[in-house]
Amino acid sequence: MKRIVFLLFTAITISASAQDYPIKPVPFTSVKVTDHFWAPRIMRNYKVTIPIALEQCYKTGRVDNFLIAGKLKKGKFKTEYPFDDTDIYKIIEGASYSLQTFPDAKLEAQVDSLIYYISKAQEPDGYLYTNRTIAKDSTELHPWASPRRWEKDPELSHELYNCGHLYEAAVAHYLATGKKTLLNVAIKNADLVYHDFVEGGLKYYPGHQIVEMGLVKMYRVTGNKKYLELAKYFLDIRKNGDEYNQAQIPVTEQTKAVGHAVRATYMYSGMADVAALTGDKSYVNAIDAIWHDVVDHKLYITGGIGAEAGHEGFGPDYALPNMSAYNETCASIGNIYWNYRLFLLHGDSKYYDVLEQILYNGMISGVSVKGDRFFYPNPLESMGQHARSEWFGCACCPSNVCRFIPSVPGYMYATANNRIYVNLFIQSKANIDLGSNKVMLEQQSNYPWSGNMAFVVNPAASKTFDVALRIPAWLNNAPVPGGLYAFETTETKKYTITVNGKKAEYTVENGYAILNRKWNKGDKIEFNMPMDVRYVKANDQVKADDGRVALQRGPLVYCFEWPDNKDASVRHLLLKDNEQTTTSYDANLLDGVEVIKAVAVTPVITKDDKVEEKNETVTAIPYYAWANRGVGDMSVWVADKPTSVVPLPPPTIASKSKVSASYVTKALKSINDQLEPANSHDGSIPYYHWWPKKDTVEWVQYDFEKPATISKTQVYWFDDGPWGGCRIPASWKLMYKDTDGSWKEVKAKTTYPITKDTFNELEFDAVNTSALRMEVQLSKEHSAGIMEWKVE
Ligand SMILES: [Zn+2]
Repeated sequence: MKRIVFLLFTAITISASAQDYPIKPVPFTSVKVTDHFWAPRIMRNYKVTIPIALEQCYKTGRVDNFLIAGKLKKGKFKTEYPFDDTDIYKIIEGASYSLQTFPDAKLEAQVDSLIYYISKAQEPDGYLYTNRTIAKDSTELHPWASPRRWEKDPELSHELYNCGHLYEAAVAHYLATGKKTLLNVAIKNADLVYHDFVEGGLKYYPGHQIVEMGLVKMYRVTGNKKYLELAKYFLDIRKNGDEYNQAQIPVTEQTKAVGHAVRATYMYSGMADVAALTGDKSYVNAIDAIWHDVVDHKLYITGGIGAEAGHEGFGPDYALPNMSAYNETCASIGNIYWNYRLFLLHGDSKYYDVLEQILYNGMISGVSVKGDRFFYPNPLESMGQHARSEWFGCACCPSNVCRFIPSVPGYMYATANNRIYVNLFIQSKANIDLGSNKVMLEQQSNYPWSGNMAFVVNPAASKTFDVALRIPAWLNNAPVPGGLYAFETTETKKYTITVNGKKAEYTVENGYAILNRKWNKGDKIEFNMPMDVRYVKANDQVKADDGRVALQRGPLVYCFEWPDNKDASVRHLLLKDNEQTTTSYDANLLDGVEVIKAVAVTPVITKDDKVEEKNETVTAIPYYAWANRGVGDMSVWVADKPTSVVPLPPPTIASKSKVSASYVTKALKSINDQLEPANSHDGSIPYYHWWPKKDTVEWVQYDFEKPATISKTQVYWFDDGPWGGCRIPASWKLMYKDTDGSWKEVKAKTTYPITKDTFNELEFDAVNTSALRMEVQLSKEHSAGIMEWKVE
């Protein structure tokens, strides 16, 4: 009975409000980008990233899962996660967008084949989840899935997550090609979901949101209101669950950003969509409050969100550590989706200020300059433990990059009530439909390197309308909206706007300069924004940035990286307050970047333990471009207070050694990085471990720069017990390389010490050697690791 009342209620809510976002997007298909920043990125996404992602889907068994489920091939489920199906959907979505810019028969045929496999893998009633279809019994089913459909979705089965990405892909493919092949699969699936949930009364809320946004897109292309009703149903049944997936209380009562950041932003985006289409303000009140929580407490200067790795999500207010910052690439994309929708709801430029900050920093940092390597987390500081990967077991980020990049031109313009909103500054030509008029708007700019730009307005008919130019937050006194960051200095120069060479008349409204006039063919607006290097300070409550400063120029946040700075170190830089900076464009560096140079104090510890201060010219590059030249030091926030500087220690035998090991990982170089831990589980500095190995003999080795006489060593064990997998080892011994090349054990003066939370010092009879090897016997039950290994 209750269910019937609920259904009536939703039906009335929806039918009583034939409405939508008050602001209409200008689709990316109407905008041709011709600049030197985005056009090459969109091209590389087509030529490099999508082919790599497709190849990985074939190589890793993601395509096979569909073939096996569709009985086109024999075998078992081939991949690690039940949501691996979504990578194919996301690539189809990205390829569909890409095909609209770059028609490509071969890619289109490849997509058609994938769609054929997907249609074969769909069960007769519409259900689509290759893991369950392949599994012959519950033992073959992924442990995250229940023997009963949907039952474990609120936990981890990801059945509805797969559906959501299927719908997004299907709509994109249909709009790009006019083919209904995938759309029909999606309709059959969505009808089943509607039948099981709305009609069948199932109350399993989606464990990983996206189905809500996907269903809204299905409603938009099919006009079938039951998909919108289903999206609303999925939002409204969230309660009595976990914070992890934002189900702790009803969505309309939520005011704080909590839990998994990607799930959160997808849900907030779905809430905005449903609010726009139903007129239900309670969703808007909730996401407005949550937005303030994010920009006041939980946003990195790079636009990244989700500080904590453990749950890939939001941490406490102001807890924004730099080196361990998680900032998943997908969370950046989700945060763009959400801020975009808030703009479409409210028409305020502040949402675009956040969007632009994410776009130019924490989002594009997720893909390498060449388009072939990816970051999952996007930290703001590194000591070389972060390297870009070709792919990931959980590949959500690269496939999200595939689908997001080609859609960027769609974020530039929007229209409402005889007004064109200019939100992003990218050289392009756009055909904008103003309803009563059509306008070809040509934008000439070299953004983000220059703030000078021009717009040529070509209306089909000379008429009066508004051109609303976004005045970026960074032009005023905040690098990004909210209470977390401020510029240390105020910009003295003012931006200028002219029309046909004369000072323009405009009013400022919600962060836009509104130019209202009768526009004639060829009218030219010139918008000149000063783009000086600005010093950014964080709110005092952000302890991680205490005594530190970041550099921003225009929308770009900068970082200092090892290849550009002396001693390949950026840990010991002290930037003086408002030190003069210079900028220059280097066309050969990182596909062309504007670099910033400043003079910094670089304190180093001399051999006799004195601190020597030198002045050095230091170089900063845009943050997004880091980790394209190998691994090493990087920092966004550098000291501007002497108390925050870590002087560079003098090089040692160990620090100059080449490190090798029985088990090579990226973390290997952390054992001689000269960073001393506070304890054996100090997560603030890099460490090396042999996990998941146990009960084996492992080794690490130093090959010295030149032979040396040594008689003492110190090792600091990594031990993350009782919850982690590493403990101090069972035993260890130290070998040195004899002149004949053989390994001999040193003559130790004591037993080998094995204690956690301290340096374990061993003295031995002096030997002259070119290499040392530490042999470590791992305990029966646990692995082991090393935080630092010193030699004297
Ligand atoms: Zn991801």
